[in-house]
Amino acid sequence: VAKNKRGNYYQLYKENIQRMDNRALEMETKLYKAIHQDLLELHYQPKIDIKSNKMIGMEALLRWHDSELGQIPPNKFIPIAEESGLICDIGEWVLRKASLQIKQWKEQYGLNLRVAVNISPTHFEEPCFIDRLKSIIEETNVEPKNLEIEITELSMMHYNNELINKIKKLKDLGLTISIDDFGTGYSSLSYLKNFPVDTLKIDRSFIVSMIDGDSNIAMVSAIISLAHALKMNVVAEGVETEYELEILKKHHCEFVQGYYFSKPLCVSDFNRFLEDNR
Ligand code: C2E
Ligand code: MG
Ligand code: MG
Ligand code: MG
Repeated sequence: VAKNKRGNYYQLYKENIQRMDNRALEMETKLYKAIHQDLLELHYQPKIDIKSNKMIGMEALLRWHDSELGQIPPNKFIPIAEESGLICDIGEWVLRKASLQIKQWKEQYGLNLRVAVNISPTHFEEPCFIDRLKSIIEETNVEPKNLEIEITELSMMHYNNELINKIKKLKDLGLTISIDDFGTGYSSLSYLKNFPVDTLKIDRSFIVSMIDGDSNIAMVSAIISLAHALKMNVVAEGVETEYELEILKKHHCEFVQGYYFSKPLCVSDFNRFLEDNR
């Protein structure tokens, strides 16, 4: 009986894996088409100066609407893109699209802000990443000072000289670098002082937790102090409430991003927002 049961479980397991594989494969195929048929879209979320309430820049966030599967969140399709190698194509598409948008906003509204693009660790680690980026900058004629790269703390875990050199090269090109989702990487903190990064983005989970007590606020405050001691700026991610905003202000956080100010907006909504705030 036991053997039989195990056999059945195995069968079930095999079918499940196969089903998952098929789903992932279907998504991968659709994603490939989406990239090459220009079916992806960037939305933009403002980053706000906590003191002046002014927009200091925005983050480009990828959106994918499939005619059959509907809206698919990046947390679902980015891992598939990473596993299948599509992530480099996606990353380059995002860089190119955001660069063209920066130019468009400059011409249309005289906007001279920085747009941040998320780059996956797998893409960032590609040997040709810098050269490809350079050619996108040349091709789109974007000013590097208007371009920011967000890399997650996870990318920093394979900490070595090559990685430091890569970040230095980006800085030499005139780009700004942020560490995204800071506090979730479980990595040693010692890498921070060796990396010429400009900004730490405190992960949303820390911001949400502040309401649960003083020790959580102390954590956020400590991250802010650490960043400042290393001459970095701080962005708090996912700010949704007045309460969070007030605490962050009190603890000298300089920039915030979150639904409290604005959700990520598609270009036409963003343009309306810009026209209203002219
Ligand atoms: P992330 O880079 O940390 O981006 C912040 C995420 O938090 C975004 O989710 C944003 O819509 C969401 N968010 C912003 N404010 C709030 C808030 O007040 N409350 C809540 N609950 N959420 C807020 P999104 O757009 O779903 O993206 C999720 C993640 O997917 C991003 O996290 C990033 O890691 C990845 N991602 C998005 N676009 C790209 C891309 O173009 N390339 C790569 N490689 N990854 C991307
Ligand atoms: Mg980000
Ligand atoms: Mg983040
Ligand atoms: Mg995140």
